[in-house]
Amino acid sequence: MDNAPFHILGAGLSGLSAATILANAGKEVHVYDVRKDSGARFDGDFQGIENWTSSPDFFDEMKQWGLKPDYFKSNSFDVVDLAHPDDVITQPKTESIAFRVVERGTDEHCIDQGMKRMAIEAGVKIHYGVRKSPDECDIIAAGPKESSAVAFGEIFHTDHPNHVTLQLNDKLAPGAYSYLIIIDGIGLICTCLWRKQKKSSRYLNETIAWYEERYELNRKPIKRVGGKGDFSLPKKYIHKGRYYVGEAGGLQDFMWGFGMRYAITSGVLAAKGILGECDYELEIRKRLIPLVKSSATNRFLLNRIGDRGFKLAARYWMWDQKRKGDGLAFLRWLYSPGIFRKLLWPIVKLSMLKKKELPDGRVVNHMPFRKALKRDIWEPSPAALEIGKQWDRVRKSGAHLSFNESDT
Ligand SMILES: Cc1cc2nc3c(=O)[nH]c(=O)nc-3n(C[C@H](O)[C@H](O)[C@H](O)COP(=O)(O)OP(=O)(O)OC[C@H]3O[C@@H](n4cnc5c(N)ncnc54)[C@H](O)[C@@H]3O)c2cc1C
Repeated sequence: MDNAPFHILGAGLSGLSAATILANAGKEVHVYDVRKDSGARFDGDFQGIENWTSSPDFFDEMKQWGLKPDYFKSNSFDVVDLAHPDDVITQPKTESIAFRVVERGTDEHCIDQGMKRMAIEAGVKIHYGVRKSPDECDIIAAGPKESSAVAFGEIFHTDHPNHVTLQLNDKLAPGAYSYLIIIDGIGLICTCLWRKQKKSSRYLNETIAWYEERYELNRKPIKRVGGKGDFSLPKKYIHKGRYYVGEAGGLQDFMWGFGMRYAITSGVLAAKGILGECDYELEIRKRLIPLVKSSATNRFLLNRIGDRGFKLAARYWMWDQKRKGDGLAFLRWLYSPGIFRKLLWPIVKLSMLKKKELPDGRVVNHMPFRKALKRDIWEPSPAALEIGKQWDRVRKSGAHLSFNESDT
């Protein structure tokens, strides 16, 4: 039994993390992915790895586990522009690293490719373009299945220096936020929709118009990208002997969708569980579930407050920073369970999550995609209409769209 090979479904962040840890421990590991390569799900968008939900710096934590963050490109940030719903822009900042921006995709410097190189060097055999039955696998790391929310963005050339803006705005990003990330001449403007809309591009065009009015972007569109997030709380993380990790296990940040840290951490913990170094179920409940529950409670509140609440939250954030001298303190507080969030949890579970049985027999409390509200329908601005037409022209000349409205 000791020499039996391990089989992992999904060569994304969680699957490759688990595979590397197992292979480093001398195990034979096979990873299967339906797509042609790791990162193919994403196609070159920027994502932020948060550094506020747990106290060790995440890259230090990765190194302790034997993973190598220098295998992929990352840019650290200690400050962002925070755009309040009334368009006031302030700057949360910290003396440490608030988050790191990485690129997702199949290029050499992307996190997916770095994790792939790490796994291959450890001796993992990765089989791309292969459909394997989950029943034949020990770890299920196949990413999201259902949509609870979507993100939709445009990647463009720009001559603006490296920069990140986070915008809280219920009109441009229903129920959520939008962001601008610029790294080394490439920009991404993305809007996140936590209420299901018929035309996501309307929101993206209007969001781009908003950023163009405030930043000298000199934007030249390259492609449009996006994806869905699956937010659910399963009853168990080991089911019929199989370990569920990353988004396949519903391990996601319900508030913002910062799922990468959860994916890598759960992949590592599953491998350690298999190696007998920890109890996976217990570790997930101890380390990740309190964060998931806090983020779900915050999501419940965000769903209710709209722009007026976003405005208060943004103001409170800046007030808290002034008092404590650290913008990260507020984010850490948001994820700490605390008595208020604990008391609210039964209401959150009852009213925001729906119990369902998945085809593999697992029972989960799933967060359904919320319906659009009346206030989500508004007339696009002339600038947004022009941006839509610009994209149509760019698209006709061959630009790539990796995410369709119908993908939601
Ligand atoms: C547009 C967008 C923006 C995001 N931004 C951020 C961000 O800024 N910060 C952050 O932390 N998180 C972000 N996330 C979330 C983050 O990307 C995910 O939580 C994380 O990638 C989940 O990792 P995973 O290993 O569970 O899944 P993935 O990394 O998606 O890997 C799953 C893999 O399984 C494969 N697969 C799927 N089905 C099968 C099957 N049947 N058989 C075999 N293989 C299969 C897929 O091809 C894929 O390679 C974002 C998500 C989206 C969609």
